[in-house]
Amino acid sequence: MSDFKSQKQLVIQQLKCLVKDNIRNLWDDETFREYYFKEMDKEIKKVEAQLNDFFDALQYFNQWYSKDKQYSLVLPRKGGKYSLFCYTCRRWIPDTSNYEMQREGVYSHDHFCTKENGEIKIYMQEGIPEKEGLIN
Ligand SMILES: [Zn+2]
Repeated sequence: MSDFKSQKQLVIQQLKCLVKDNIRNLWDDETFREYYFKEMDKEIKKVEAQLNDFFDALQYFNQWYSKDKQYSLVLPRKGGKYSLFCYTCRRWIPDTSNYEMQREGVYSHDHFCTKENGEIKIYMQEGIPEKEGLIN
């Protein structure tokens, strides 16, 4: 986790250096330079905020989908008896969202599973295995 933080700081640091170098090369005038440094600093702060979100998401994803332990990754999939599919335990899962939600492209389910060192555990909605649920 601290790895992500230091990576982010490195990216920001490199970005600042890049911007400063460019400004130095472009502007001889000290006053102009100061002005652009300040302006670019505002832009960098915006980028930093976006990077924060990005690294938060990355950290979250990494926690949940690590190599050793995975949690149910349920996504819509066509061609099955149910409209959702769990890529972690490879089972078809029924969509429990109502019509209104479906119209807005939202889906929901009661499935939860874990895969740890190759061992799969299924909780709540079991769904049906990939091969059984295929429709063709
Ligand atoms: Zn699953």
